[in-house]
Amino acid sequence: MELPEKINNSVDAFGRIQGVGAKTALRQVLSMCKWNKSELESFSDAIFELSKLNTCEICGFYTDEKKCSICLDEKRTSFGTICVVESIIDCLAIERSRNFHGTFHVLGGVLNPLMGIGPDELGIDVLINRIDDSVQGLILAVNPSVEGDATCSFIRDKLPERVQVDRIGFGIPMGGSLEYLDAQTITKALENRKKM
Ligand SMILES: [Zn+2]
Repeated sequence: MELPEKINNSVDAFGRIQGVGAKTALRQVLSMCKWNKSELESFSDAIFELSKLNTCEICGFYTDEKKCSICLDEKRTSFGTICVVESIIDCLAIERSRNFHGTFHVLGGVLNPLMGIGPDELGIDVLINRIDDSVQGLILAVNPSVEGDATCSFIRDKLPERVQVDRIGFGIPMGGSLEYLDAQTITKALENRKKM
């Protein structure tokens, strides 16, 4: 039995979402076929709005404006510590722990010469240029891996001596990902960071 093209097109679209297989996509689309017109419209509008999303010109976090709410929060900026993360999802994981009161810097990955990801691709200059007198410390909340370790060493070498650089580590398994850790483990990892 052939399904109408309208359904097949939606199934293809859902199938492009990471982790969604063909069966799940079909199940979701079939259930959405029962939605009314305004429900479908608001769903597709919400997705389309993503095309207008900006990244914060300071830290790289997503924002509707030019700067994100954390970079605009004087309490956070005056804390004097920047937490460097690989991805926005890691940033959210640390925010969930409610134990970090400074600002963030999203690298968007780690150095990986084999994949052609160098300092320019990660915009490490943007991070280094953020380091003014108001910044006393950096926490490298980069996931532990060979590439992550190399990235941390690279950043450490680029920073002025006066800036204290710590790396989180305790409680996070090698090859582990911040995304899947509970808030308590992340809190512990922040407390037990070590000087680099
Ligand atoms: Zn920001």
